[in-house]
Formats: sequence, structure tokens, C-alpha cells
Amino acid sequence: MARFTRVFGVRKLPVQKMRGLRVRLTLSFVLFFSILMVAIGLFYRKTLEYDMEADMRAALEEEWGAAKGYLRIENQQPIWVADRTDPEENFIVARLRHIDLVADANGEVLEVSDTYRSIGIDSRDEIRRILSLSEPSEIHKRWDSEGVAYLIKAGRTLDDKGRPYFFAIGRSLESVQSTVHDFTRLYFAVLPGLIILSGGLGWLLAGRAIRPVNDVAQAAQAITGSNLSLQIPLRGAGDELDHLIDSFNRMTARLDESFEQTRRFSTDVSHELRTPLTAIRGQLEVGLLTAQTPEQYREAMLNALEDVEKLSSIVRALLLLSQAESGQLVLQKTPLDLAAMAEDVADQFQIPAEEKHVALSTEVRSGALISGDHTQIERLLSNLLSNAIKYTPAGGTVRVRVDLADSSGWARLAVEDTGVGIPAENLPRIFDRFYRVRSADTSVVPGLGLGLSFVAWIVQVHGGRIEVASTPGEGTRFTVLLPLAESAGDPAAREREPALHLEDGELPLST
Ligand code: ATP
Ligand code: MG
Repeated sequence: MARFTRVFGVRKLPVQKMRGLRVRLTLSFVLFFSILMVAIGLFYRKTLEYDMEADMRAALEEEWGAAKGYLRIENQQPIWVADRTDPEENFIVARLRHIDLVADANGEVLEVSDTYRSIGIDSRDEIRRILSLSEPSEIHKRWDSEGVAYLIKAGRTLDDKGRPYFFAIGRSLESVQSTVHDFTRLYFAVLPGLIILSGGLGWLLAGRAIRPVNDVAQAAQAITGSNLSLQIPLRGAGDELDHLIDSFNRMTARLDESFEQTRRFSTDVSHELRTPLTAIRGQLEVGLLTAQTPEQYREAMLNALEDVEKLSSIVRALLLLSQAESGQLVLQKTPLDLAAMAEDVADQFQIPAEEKHVALSTEVRSGALISGDHTQIERLLSNLLSNAIKYTPAGGTVRVRVDLADSSGWARLAVEDTGVGIPAENLPRIFDRFYRVRSADTSVVPGLGLGLSFVAWIVQVHGGRIEVASTPGEGTRFTVLLPLAESAGDPAAREREPALHLEDGELPLST
């Protein structure tokens, strides 16, 4: 079921809606911060592990060199030669033998420490593989049953007769593992606290960022249909928000102007309708109260009918204009020869021009083929021509010209007269509905002030441009540019700005 509620007065925005943005900003900040902190933690953990392991590898390499110095193999027996009186040397050898394995070339174990046994003794195949390597040694990693990691350096050593033996020593990575583990535990224990803190910070920052938006929203709420001229003050920060405020202010200014136009229009319509209505009423009263003979009745009726005719012509024109401007008037565009049409319409105006003693001439060049609606283009021509003749006193001239504009892709129509002209301050409003210049020269000229509104609409729906140049007391020139038919679907052909350009020395005009 369709519903419509009209709300009067200023409606406050729901508070929850405004919070929503702040919450979303905070959550995004927290999410970003959490992902960043977890990534940093994992990266640091990996780096720590890698660095500590690299140190272990370097130490193991050193020990391997020392071990080879202390180990002799004689008669298939490994002998560790160390000065028994030197406690330091004894300590080193004991450390080396803590994780070690000595085996012969067949994989027969000659010596193995308990710790090494817990990691697992190398298989015979593995021993043969190591002995056959071109590099005398390699380092690899192994784990015992409890998950403790060890670095093992295995390689080749020779006995007193120069026969190869398998020899390996190792180092526990337990300290590395426990350091990394401690770091991870500590880091991820602190992280939730940091995230909560970041949430608080995010909430504060989002609040600060949004406050000006709320201020602007409040200022905007104060603007209603009746005070559209109110502007939201710019903050002077020159940021996106100022840009938004500026756009908003421009929008309300445009709305204000269009409201003003509508208001003016309503006043003008009532005024325009009231004049013939009053006249009709007057005629009817005459008929009813004072007329005595059938002739007098008849005259009153005829006068009333004339005014009814005027009334209905206003209503017809208004209806047509509103249909046109709301897009209800369907245009039927066909290829039209603007030059031929201008000649035709000018022919129709020859008699009224002669009656007014105005010389009407045409000067057209062929090739101005446009795509347009025949009825509307004819209306455009006759409105411009009727104005030119209407507002030119006896003895004046009206000239219609059609040619191609300097910029390619445009046909140009110019209607020039040597009439009363239009004062500069009235120029911007002559295309408004019902607008007429009020002056001693024109007040006696009949008209509704709707002709140029039609002209403007017709030019607009044909994708053209219109310009007016006028000097009061000297004359007026209307110039219309319309896209040529072959370039109607190809805007690139009219890429250059069309020049609504006026040649010198013909009429001393000012825009
Ligand atoms: P309508 O065309 O509806 O019968 P109108 O001619 O007064 O009435 P518009 O054609 O819209 O209305 O023109 C608006 C006003 O612009 C005119 O009233 C007139 O003051 C001025 N104007 C238009 N064309 C000329 C012109 N060629 N020379 C001088 N003033 C003009
Ligand atoms: Mg007119």
C-alpha cells in the first residue's frame, strides 16, 4: 500500500544514524590496527627466530672446527685428545660429546651420546649419502620426541690411515624456541589491551572528525523553503568538508532562484488571468445591467467572447509550455533545411511587416541541414520574427540570416532588427515566462511574454545555444546555433566551442 506523509516544520535527524558513522569509523580503525599489530607481531617473531638460529648455526660451525681438532680415530676407535689438566679444554670436549655420533663407512656406530640417540641415529643409507657428498659437511634440523629442535652438523673425518668416517655434532635450539615462545605469549597477551586502547582512540578521533559534519547538518536543518537564501558559513579549512558546504550553498542558491522564479510565475499567471477575467466580468455586467437593445447585448457578448478567446490562448500556451518543459511533448526529428524554412516563415511575415512599414529581408546560404522537429523549429522562427517586427518601429528593418558557423558542425540563424532594443539589465530575464520589458515604447505592444520561453526550450531540446545582443534605441540581434544533421550523433565533430560570433560594423550592439 502506498503511503505519503507530509512533514511540516524542521525534522531532526535521528541521533542513531549519526552515531552509525562514528561506530563504523572506529571499527574500521580497530580492525586496521589489529591486523597491523598481528602482522607486526608475526613478522618480528619470525625475524627473532631466524636471527637466533643464524647465531646458533655460526656457533655450530665453530664447534665443528674445534671438534675435528680434538677427535682422532685410531684402530676403529674414536679418541678425544684433550689436556686432562686443562679444565677449560675438558669442558669444551665434554660439551662437544654431549651431542655427537661417530660411525664408520658401513654405518657401524662407534660412539653416540644419549642426547643424539634421543634424536635418532642416522640410517646406514644416510651415513653413506653424507660420506659421498663432495662438500665435506652439511647442517640440518631435527626434532626429538618432545618437539625440541636440534641443529645437526654431519660430515666426514679421516682416521690415522686416511679412511673416511661419519662424524656429527649438534646443538639444541631449546633456548631459541623458548625465547620465541615467551615473546609470542607476552605479545599476544598485551595485544587485546592495545586493541581496546586503539578502540578508545579511534572513537575519540572519529568523534573529532565527525563533529564538523554534525555542525553542518545542524546548520542545514535550519534552512527551510522560506529561508533558502541562508548560507552555511564556510569553515575556512579549504578541505573536503568546505567543498561540500560550498556545493550545498550553491545548490540552495539555485533552489532559491528556482523557487523565486516559480513564485514570480504564479504571481504573473494570476495577474495575466485576472485582466481578461475582469474584462469579461465587465462585459457581462454591461450586458445584464445596462444593455437594452439586441445590438448592445450582442456587442457585450462579442467583447466577452474576445476576452474568453484571449484567456483560452493564455491557458493553451501555458499548458503547451508546461508539457514541453516536463518532457511530455514528443519531438519528431527529421532532416530540415533551416535556410528553406527561414525563407518560408519570412514569407508568411511579409504582409504584417509591410503593414507596419518594416522592411523584412532574408539572406540564407544553403547547406544548413539540421535534424529537428518541424513544428518547433517553425515556432522558433516565427517567435523570433514576430518579436523583431513587433518591437521595430515603422521605417526600420528586420534581417534573417542563415549560414554555417565558423566552428564546424553548427548551423547559425540570426534575426536582427533596428528596433527599440532591450536594456542590459532586462536581458537576463527575457527568456523567463511572462517576462516583458515595461517601457513607454513597448507597453502598447500586445503579448504574453511567453514567446521567448518557447524559443529557449526549443533551442535546448535541439542541443543548441542562443545569444542575444542588444543596444536600446538601436536594435537587437538573436543568434541561434543548432547542430548540423550529419554531426547530430557525433559530438566530436562539434568539439570546438561554437562561436556565437558577431561581425563588426553591422550593428553597434552590446550584449
Ligand atoms: P508573446 O511572444 O508571448 O506574444 P512577448 O513578445 O512580449 O509576448 P517574448 O517573445 O517572450 O514575449 O519576449 C519577451 C520580451 O522581450 C518582450 O516583451 C520584449 O520586451 C523583449 N523583446 C523580445 N524580442 C525583442 C526584440 N526583437 N526587440 C526588443 N525587445 C524584444
Ligand atoms: Mg514574442
